[in-house]
Amino acid sequence: MVDTKNQYLKIKNEVDTAIHEVLDSAAYINGKAVQEFAKSLNAYIGSQYTIPCANGTDALQIAMMALGLEPGDEVITPSFTYIATTEVVALLKLKPVFVEVDAKTFCIDPESVRKAITPKTKAIVPVHLYGHAAPMEEIMQIAKEHNLFVIEDNAQAIGCDYQFSDGTIKKTGSIGHIGCTSFYPSKNLGAYGDGGAIFTNDEVLADRMKMIANHGQKLRYYHDLVGCNSRLDSIQAAVLNIKLRELNHYNAARQKAANFYDKAFMGHDYITTPYKAPYSTHVYHQYTLLLNGASRDGLNAYLAEKKIPSMIYYPVPGHKQKVFATFGLDHCTLETTDWLTERVISLPMHTELDEEQLAYIVSETLSYLNK
Ligand SMILES: *Cc1c(COP(=O)(O)O)cnc(C)c1O
Repeated sequence: MVDTKNQYLKIKNEVDTAIHEVLDSAAYINGKAVQEFAKSLNAYIGSQYTIPCANGTDALQIAMMALGLEPGDEVITPSFTYIATTEVVALLKLKPVFVEVDAKTFCIDPESVRKAITPKTKAIVPVHLYGHAAPMEEIMQIAKEHNLFVIEDNAQAIGCDYQFSDGTIKKTGSIGHIGCTSFYPSKNLGAYGDGGAIFTNDEVLADRMKMIANHGQKLRYYHDLVGCNSRLDSIQAAVLNIKLRELNHYNAARQKAANFYDKAFMGHDYITTPYKAPYSTHVYHQYTLLLNGASRDGLNAYLAEKKIPSMIYYPVPGHKQKVFATFGLDHCTLETTDWLTERVISLPMHTELDEEQLAYIVSETLSYLNK
């Protein structure tokens, strides 16, 4: 699905030098590279404050801890997402309220959000799934009407541009009250280990989140809040500093591969290629097809036989996960989510795909579907 090795080889000299600089400096935690990376990333995203942390899941957790929520408060999230988004809600004794996604964009459906709001609702967590933006303008409008926080899960969409109806363009992750992202190696901006970051334009929230990520202290050994220990290490920051400079090229390479797939699959009776809404660019963290009329699991198995990796993101939606069985979801029916869950299949998508590989993946996919 990914080829981080060949991507590394192209920047090997720079990366190796940067890693050795960190080793020589012996500032493994919170060294110069971390400060530099936070500054560059902040400028790239167009945010006021960027707080590096240990991973994307921690970023979401720290964001939710900073909002001062009470146990039982409700957080609205799509069910059609990775577990991390909803797991942290449960971990903090908050109640995940699962809503629908739009069948075209795979992102949170504003109408479904409106219907799910109760007096206990405190926050909405839109996910920019597969590299496509959630409808942020509508989500921010709903949040404003109901006085709710918005935390963007931007783990899959770093570099994606969102266009507002007045023409303003912002990077996803910089639009909500808080934005969260992940530098897991396979993400669009991937480290060589774990990493994450939190974005906000709110000084008070930034201050709280910085403290929470550091054991609730501002002054060493004086702990004012219950926090956690969530740091980005200097070696990962040094790697990310170099890769951030390449991010636009990386996303362009993904778009080029997606374009190749699109052209090959366009108009096929059984295939819906990824949709791109007018308000969003697409950075193709995943290239996900919707199969209707052919067996998705059959294609998955056939591709495996041909040594082509393919994946189902995600085979079980949140509202059907055992972990949430005690969360009173018996009456939670999400027809679109269930429908999509049975039909999505993701093909290899990364920066190093060449035309020969793409042509092979396409021809085997079509050969199965046209049988
Ligand atoms: C990867 C991911 C996360 C979590 O990031 P980690 O760095 O793996 O903790 C959260 N949400 C989504 C949608 C993701 O894809």
